Amino acid sequence: MTGVCVLGSTGSIGRQTLAVVERFPERFRVTALAAGRRVEALAAQVERFRPELVAVAEPAAAEALRARLPKGGFELVTGADGLDAAARHPAEVVVSALVGAAGLRPTLAALGEGRRVALANKEALVVAGALVVREAACAGAELFPVDSEHSAIFQVLAGQRREDVARIVLTASGGPFRTWPAERIARATVEEALRHPNWSMGPKITVDSATLMNKGLELIEARWLFDADPARLAVAVHPESIVHSWVELVDGSVLAQLGLPDMRGPIALALAWPERLPLGLPRLDLPALGALHFEEPDPARFPCLALARAALEAGEAAPAALNAANEVAVAAFLAQEAPFPAIAAVVADVLDAFAARPAPAVSKLGDVLAVDAWARDAARARLAERFGARAPAAHAAAAAPGGGG
Ligand code: NAD
Ligand code: MG
Repeated sequence: MTGVCVLGSTGSIGRQTLAVVERFPERFRVTALAAGRRVEALAAQVERFRPELVAVAEPAAAEALRARLPKGGFELVTGADGLDAAARHPAEVVVSALVGAAGLRPTLAALGEGRRVALANKEALVVAGALVVREAACAGAELFPVDSEHSAIFQVLAGQRREDVARIVLTASGGPFRTWPAERIARATVEEALRHPNWSMGPKITVDSATLMNKGLELIEARWLFDADPARLAVAVHPESIVHSWVELVDGSVLAQLGLPDMRGPIALALAWPERLPLGLPRLDLPALGALHFEEPDPARFPCLALARAALEAGEAAPAALNAANEVAVAAFLAQEAPFPAIAAVVADVLDAFAARPAPAVSKLGDVLAVDAWARDAARARLAERFGARAPAAHAAAAAPGGGG
């Protein structure tokens, strides 16, 4: 039996993880669940999967959960410490599927216990890639990608020699605004940004897909997961989301992983690797599809991709500033406090301000959290100055209270 802990169980990745677990009851059991505020959904999961431990972000949510499940039968914990306790609870695999930098601490905690971490929370690697990779190495823990592109690259690289890799190319759907002119993108509404053509995901990553920041975060994620030289990482837009990424080898060979866009594939692989589970999903029928398309990303209409690459090249602390500014700006856009182009504008401003400061050391978690906190403040100030936004607080990496959903 594989014990599975799901951090962010009520979210898009969390629910799909539980769908995989449910399909193979002889193989998986749920040991712990952690979620933010969606108490009703969490209560139903607790009743269905009977975890030993449940973590919720806020005490009020804990009370509501207790009221719904008076019989108990599980340990209930709250706040950042509760999240850590869930991450450390005995399990074979910890699925890290919180959204944002809030996922960093529990990811480190699970790695510190030597667990296999199925990592969906890319922000943990963006914010503190060096620390996360070091923690995994020190504890002998396995960091297994869930992001579809990184799962593809992992599968392709299995059995290849690192020195034979010439280039890693991450594919991007291009998001809902791929074909839109800049003037129309500038007026994009929240509803339009949340209408992703191929994937059904949480709101933050869906907006990141619309700005292409998601692909920028994934470049940084790939740098750490595959110890890749940033100069060998590239992005190609592929609107069908069938080729999940490819790797070019020094002999000119190109190896890719293909599949219909469904996160249950990469999630199941992260739970069961090196085994593959019969998921009963529809088969990919290439002749029926007829054609696949590829194009270069447009840096003029999607400046976030270049901002992320600049942060990646600027060193270890700049991606933490990029991520924090992006979280604040995306939260403001989602709250209709700022227009869509404010996201790239605010991130660019914060990165400029960050570059003008003396480079901070980022050898400890506290260093990274300090950069994160500085960049959140800077982003809120920019939003207020440039867009008059009230800029709702996006949850800081340190932290814990709150949590989307
Ligand atoms: P989501 O918004 O649907 O779910 C987030 C989950 O985290 C929810 O259960 C929420 O309650 C919980 N949460 C957030 N903050 C919390 C806190 N402080 N304490 C406790 N719980 C908290 O997000 P998602 O789409 O599932 O994405 C999760 C992560 O996976 C993100 O990092 C995203 O980039 C990544 N990812 C998602 C997909 C996808 O298909 N959804 C694909 C690739 C990568
Ligand atoms: Mg992805």
